[in-house]
Formats: sequence, C-alpha cells, structure tokens
Amino acid sequence: MTPTRSKLIGTALRRGLRKRCPHCGEGRLFSGWSQLERCSICGLVFVPNPGDTWAFTIIGDRLPLAAMIVLIYFGVLRSHQVLGLIMLVVLAALVIWTAPNRWGAGIALHYLSRVYWPDPADPIPPPFASPC
Ligand SMILES: [Zn+2]
Repeated sequence: MTPTRSKLIGTALRRGLRKRCPHCGEGRLFSGWSQLERCSICGLVFVPNPGDTWAFTIIGDRLPLAAMIVLIYFGVLRSHQVLGLIMLVVLAALVIWTAPNRWGAGIALHYLSRVYWPDPADPIPPPFASPC
C-alpha cells in the first residue's frame, strides 16, 4: 500500500466520523438525523444504490454492538444485575449518540470502495481542490 493510499483511507474515515463528505471534507452527510443524498459542495452522491453500505454497517456496526450486548447480558447482568442494567443503559445511550458518526464511517468506507474499484456507471467527482 502506498503512503498516498493509506493517507486517503485515513482522511476519508476521519471525514466520515466527523459527519463530513469523505471526498471533499466540507459538505455535510446529515441534516439533523436524516442522511443527505449528495454533497452540497462537491456533488458526490453518498449512496448511489440504497443498500450498498449494508455490509459496512453490519460488519462495522451491528456485529460489535451485538457482541457487547451478549457480553453484558450473559456476563455481567447474570452476576451483578444493577451493574449490568447500568452498563446496558450507558451502552444504549452511547450507541444512539454516536450513530451518525458510525454511519458516516460506513459511508466513508463505501466511498473508498468506489475509489479503488471504480464503476463507470457510478462516477466520483474530480479531485476536490479545497478553497484556501
Ligand atoms: Zn463533498
């Protein structure tokens, strides 16, 4: 992997976690709790086909979450009920609070897959020159 390639991955993921467009880093991914269709700055369509990000969502989001719930439910909750309930409530709050950031990371991963395996039917806008 070349340095520019790993730099692109890091940059896109950071932008996704900050709920910004993975391509230009300027446009917003969400308006409130709803996901925007395209970037208002560079025009990147975030999810060209609904369902394209499901693999990233399942692997990066649902599986770790399910593992934590199972660990708390079958581990802590069985032996320390109050502590287990508190952990579940804290986990639920964290999950809801960070949901847009995790969705942003999923969109960024999907964007990276589109950069590395380009599809002529799914064009990515030209490299974005940030207006400094
Ligand atoms: Zn953009």
